Amino acid sequence: MITSGDETLLRRAISIAAHAVTLGDAPYGSLLAGPDGAILAEAHNTVRRDNDITAHPELKLARWAARELDLDTAARTTMYTSCQPCGMCGGGIVRSGLGRVVYALATEQLVELNPQSGDWPTVPQDGPALFDEARAPIDAYYRPS
Ligand SMILES: [Zn+2]
Repeated sequence: MITSGDETLLRRAISIAAHAVTLGDAPYGSLLAGPDGAILAEAHNTVRRDNDITAHPELKLARWAARELDLDTAARTTMYTSCQPCGMCGGGIVRSGLGRVVYALATEQLVELNPQSGDWPTVPQDGPALFDEARAPIDAYYRPS
């Protein structure tokens, strides 16, 4: 359930997205609000500026959270973001330990506004293969004798 307090922080994320446009960056913004609701960090999309396909604000903030927050604080921290996180960012958010994400535009709504946003081809993956050879470094790391 999205509360009026959530909406206030979502509006801040949307304003970060709007400000990104004035800087020449893509229109996506996010922030982290700690357990008491205070804003801990903010970010916007800098994919073009940094020539870095991973420079989505959600992934930058997930990485920040994993680095800077203890597990308990991370679990009680919420990400507010102007658009629903993509698959790349979703994976980072899970690994960061953040407890909740609140977004404004759903992916389907974003794709309606900008069809290019949903135009990602699937990359074929072939495997598994070479099990005995591939397991050696895994065993060496997790089951040292
Ligand atoms: Zn993303």
